[in-house]
Amino acid sequence: MADILPAYFIGHGNPMNALQTNPYTQGWSRIGTETPRPLAILAISAHWYVPGTGVTISTSPRTIHDFGGFPKELFQVQYPAPGDLALANRVRELLAPVSVTFDESWGLDHGTWSILKHVYPQADIPVVQLSIDATQPAAFHYEIGKRLAPLRNEQILIIGSGNLVHNLRAYAWGQEAPVPYDWAARFESEARQMLLAADDQPLLNYQKLGKDAQLSIPTPEHFLPLLYIIGSRQTKELTAFPIEGVDGGSISMLTVQVG
Ligand code: ZN
Repeated sequence: MADILPAYFIGHGNPMNALQTNPYTQGWSRIGTETPRPLAILAISAHWYVPGTGVTISTSPRTIHDFGGFPKELFQVQYPAPGDLALANRVRELLAPVSVTFDESWGLDHGTWSILKHVYPQADIPVVQLSIDATQPAAFHYEIGKRLAPLRNEQILIIGSGNLVHNLRAYAWGQEAPVPYDWAARFESEARQMLLAADDQPLLNYQKLGKDAQLSIPTPEHFLPLLYIIGSRQTKELTAFPIEGVDGGSISMLTVQVG
């Protein structure tokens, strides 16, 4: 058994990935087979971006189909992983004095299940979701990541689900493999350098990184899950990019692994 589990920021992209087999989903499957089996998963999804910090406490969290305009079969997907009240309690303990609400209404949104369906298709590992407090600045989310870091020694797999570059207005719907926009490629490359160098401060101040960053992060929710993951990084831990690619020209599918 590994002493410390890696943590992953996974670019989830199009919800249809849940049903498809492609290089991204094959990469997600590989994460499931190559990572030592965790006791439970703590997922931080771009799609639970609300005022306040909450954790799911349902013993059987519902599969939330939080999108529109997709085929019926996507709405039929279920990911019946159990919840984990002990993990929810542990998160509350670690984040104190930040107040953590026990939430019974949320479940697993598509940021979580579209990925986990490939990582752990059996849905037999308990999953707790942690919300992203939309009222807080980037540094807050990074600090939460730091406080969650001990979970990695407790065989809990922390997964952040978003996209490093996420601009749906520029997304080339229906086009086969369009070339990434220049600004998307430049920002991804710049961010990768910072991640490899563990140079986190500029990423926390991403609003000051200029036009490429503004186009890549028009709204914060898909970017912020990354900060939880790099916040949980230990001194001298390496950063790797086990999955790469840009979907629709403007959605980075990069996976960032720490540890
Ligand atoms: Zn999304």
